[in-house]
Amino acid sequence: MKIIEEKLSPVITDVMCDVCSCSTIPPGGSAEFGVLSADWGYGSQHDGERYEVHLCEPCFFATLSHLRRQKMVDDTANETGESSAPFGLVERDNYFKG
Ligand SMILES: [Zn+2]
Repeated sequence: MKIIEEKLSPVITDVMCDVCSCSTIPPGGSAEFGVLSADWGYGSQHDGERYEVHLCEPCFFATLSHLRRQKMVDDTANETGESSAPFGLVERDNYFKG
């Protein structure tokens, strides 16, 4: 015998950008966002702290651009030269997010 009971569970309906507070849902799509996260552990200055920042597409790439510029400044100061690899990109053409 099946006993059926309706239960309500929380569902994420949108992800708001933590920088500009806009919705990350494009027209007709589902939430598209980037996450900057850290879970600091023993030996770090922020031991026990966990961070998670949700970013819309423009804010994500603005952040990435800032970090890329910082790396270029550091590379120039250290005379290591600019890397040819795209900064932060680990995969391209993965449309199915598998
Ligand atoms: Zn944003």
